[in-house]
Amino acid sequence: MRFRREPNPNRNHPLHCPYCAGELLFPDEETDFAWSCQDCLRVFSVYFHGQDEAPVTPAAAPSSQEALANSLKKKGHDL
Ligand SMILES: [Zn+2]
Repeated sequence: MRFRREPNPNRNHPLHCPYCAGELLFPDEETDFAWSCQDCLRVFSVYFHGQDEAPVTPAAAPSSQEALANSLKKKGHDL
């Protein structure tokens, strides 16, 4: 298969137009990230900038061995 230009692996695919919620979206040649909405004729871009750190980091889950030991201890069994 031949492409007119190299595919952009960082291009996100929106499911809805952010302006009119239209679903008829096509890539636009404005930029490598631009989409054209066929319902409202707007051209917009979608970027992924990264991911923020979680405000609270969950505690690590105990291993199966530790979970079993904790459960047995809670029920009054000695190991
Ligand atoms: Zn639209």
